[in-house]
Amino acid sequence: MPTELATLIEEQRTTVQDLERENSLAGWQANITGRPEDEAKAAELQAQLMRCYSDSARYAKLKELKAEDYDLARQQKLLVNRFTSNQMAPEVIDEIAKRDAEMDSLFNNFRGKLRGEAVSDNHLRDILKDSDDSALRKEAWETSKQIGAVSAPKILELVEIRNREAKRLGFPDYYQMRIQLQELEVDTLFALLDDVAKQTKPLFTAYKQNLDEQLAKRFGGRAEDMRPWHYADPFFQSPPNTEKVDIDVYFEGKGLEDITNRFFDSLGLDIKAIMANSDLYEKPGKCQHAFCTHIGRDTGDIRVLCNLRPNAQWMKTLLHEFGHAAYDMELDPELPFFLKGAAHTMTTESIAELMGRFSDNGVWLAKWAGVRPEDAGQIEKAAHAMHRAYMLIFTQWVLVMSSFERAMYADPSQDLNTLWWDLVEKFQQVRRPDNRHAPDWAAKIHLATVPGYYHNYLLGEMTAAQILHTLRTRVVSSEEELVTSPKVGAWLTENIFRHGSRYSWNDLLTRATGEPLNAKYFVEDLA
Ligand SMILES: [Zn+2]
Repeated sequence: MPTELATLIEEQRTTVQDLERENSLAGWQANITGRPEDEAKAAELQAQLMRCYSDSARYAKLKELKAEDYDLARQQKLLVNRFTSNQMAPEVIDEIAKRDAEMDSLFNNFRGKLRGEAVSDNHLRDILKDSDDSALRKEAWETSKQIGAVSAPKILELVEIRNREAKRLGFPDYYQMRIQLQELEVDTLFALLDDVAKQTKPLFTAYKQNLDEQLAKRFGGRAEDMRPWHYADPFFQSPPNTEKVDIDVYFEGKGLEDITNRFFDSLGLDIKAIMANSDLYEKPGKCQHAFCTHIGRDTGDIRVLCNLRPNAQWMKTLLHEFGHAAYDMELDPELPFFLKGAAHTMTTESIAELMGRFSDNGVWLAKWAGVRPEDAGQIEKAAHAMHRAYMLIFTQWVLVMSSFERAMYADPSQDLNTLWWDLVEKFQQVRRPDNRHAPDWAAKIHLATVPGYYHNYLLGEMTAAQILHTLRTRVVSSEEELVTSPKVGAWLTENIFRHGSRYSWNDLLTRATGEPLNAKYFVEDLA
């Protein structure tokens, strides 16, 4: 006789299994065609799926039943988390969905005005990337923040609704709820983030001083006169491209799919069927980014969307997406339904990041992209310098985003404009503009549409560094083996992929690498 909890979980599986499959198929279709009717269908199925997790009677029962074994307890925990985030009246679900869509649309369609003319984000980015005209840069930077005046009140309304619902469910605020439902604790999360920021701060400070001196030479003035518009993007999230090695030439005329197929094959991960099942080239109306999706969580119908061009950026992206694909492909088919899926967003992102970074690895370039070994070494050196600069900058930036969001949900009525610049000065060491009091924070789309998520990018990088260290020290004996040996695929499958979400992310990482997530290997890489 199955127990009451097992029966309830089985009922939930029957409720969602077909719908999950239809939902991911509709999402895929909408991203391929971009047709409004396909997008509407995908949104409707998404809302239907959310409603499958909002049944309060089933939620109450799910919480109180006692689990008889580990797998049932684990499924129960994951299901309770999913139900918790959907415990809202249907009209509140609809209201939030409507406002989310409005925010997406605002950020997609808003065009700031520069010298009287409506301009795209890409145009503003190009100015910040390339222009030597300080006055124009300042105006372009201010233009990039114009959306803040429109989005700030709307974000604050969303914060109020989200906080109201979270408090009704017994959480101090919405940010705390989001973090807890991702199997994190706010204190532990910030201990980790603060630690990695502190450990990399001296390296960042030295890098930043050097950068400011270079910028001062370029734009005139002293290093301490540099302001937000002197950096290479509107938020100083990434470094200017200072390395002059052109990697793209090595990928001209190359078949990126073939390289990826053969590389993964050598690792013992046969992804050829998924490659054939994917949609890899540009089409009108098609989503311009890249992602990997599993149509339903247990069908084995895994697909990658890309817009390939034969250059280094798309090589990296293709390897990244097939990292996600390999993870899903190697899930143990015997796992219970609700444990089929990656242990955590940061875990699958770490595998994708690890695979993507091989395109910067000299041994990989020589082995798989046909680059002459003497060139490969030079590319690796340049790529490593860029990666290091990027990570030093990105770490401090994640601290700004996460600290701001935490504080905003704790007290949305405080002076957020000042708080934002206090954090930017503290972490990024970028001086605030004189005499400016504007909601510059509200120009960042993530604060509107992906709440309580930003830390995952950095935790994913830290996880990747820790896994890579284990591969290098315990699994392979050379860089050559790291990029050609089936030992790598076997280790990843055995220690990470096959377990799905049977273990929580940090337990899984501890079992695999011998220690819980920590900053050590990420920091070592940057030293
Ligand atoms: Zn990814």
